[in-house]
Amino acid sequence: MIEILNVNKSFKNTDVLTDVNLTIQDNEVFGLVGPSGVGKSTLLNCLIGLEKYQSGSICIDGVRLEELNELKIRKFRKNMGMIFQNFSLIGRKDIFHNISLPMECWNYSKTDIKNRVEELAELIGIQDKLKNRPSELSGGQKQRVAIARALTMNPRYLLCDECTSSLDPKSTSSILELLKSLQEQFQITIIVVTHEMAVVQNLCNKMAILESGKVSLSGDVQEIFKEKPEQLRTLLGEDERMVSITLDVAELAKVKEYLDTQGTNYKITGGY
Ligand code: ADP
Repeated sequence: MIEILNVNKSFKNTDVLTDVNLTIQDNEVFGLVGPSGVGKSTLLNCLIGLEKYQSGSICIDGVRLEELNELKIRKFRKNMGMIFQNFSLIGRKDIFHNISLPMECWNYSKTDIKNRVEELAELIGIQDKLKNRPSELSGGQKQRVAIARALTMNPRYLLCDECTSSLDPKSTSSILELLKSLQEQFQITIIVVTHEMAVVQNLCNKMAILESGKVSLSGDVQEIFKEKPEQLRTLLGEDERMVSITLDVAELAKVKEYLDTQGTNYKITGGY
């Protein structure tokens, strides 16, 4: 369980997080949403001990992060897997060695590493790519590799920072399905930072909205989307886009079906 209590974080004179309070229970898939620059990634970095906060407390499974020294933070971080929008893979290493990186840092034996990497590659569906370089993989496959690497140390938490933002819709849904099945299989608590509302609706059961460094709303995803409070409407409004395309009736039906599966709000205007 993660308890964030009155956390304040600033960079020089700029306040980024102000009195942030949040509780994330075990096994939740928790969406942290809000416009760009509002402090979502900074909060994730505080959770994994990469950023220090000026005041308040972050308590993870009973351990107060602000009380840990650098070595203890490093060990503690084994509990936290992290994946990013840009995948953060190492181009000159093959997929096997990208996945094995955390285990190599912790000096695991070659046999343990081989067994674990092969097990994860099979679980994630990239067993035929272990000898390839990242540049030979699609975006969705690269994110699968990053997920496998994040899972090597058997973390209790998986932190996802805009992990589908650079993927096409098909890869996005396959990564969301993978995350859902990993959560069910291994009871990992997942925290998802995103500006994509469809991702929250599709994947998360709890959510919090950050506005100007403060939590403006938190609660159950289904209830929040049903009640559509102002904080959510403001965010959804930001998602509005005007797209002009010419489609025949069959194509239009397919697009509508896809938008419905994504939980996207849309309005169709124009000639039929
Ligand atoms: P979000 O993830 O919501 O887009 P970030 O947490 O990345 O927002 O950034 C929040 C604010 O903190 C931004 O104004 C950003 O410029 C600032 N910021 C983030 N990291 C640093 C840093 N290392 N030094 C100075 N300012 C930073």
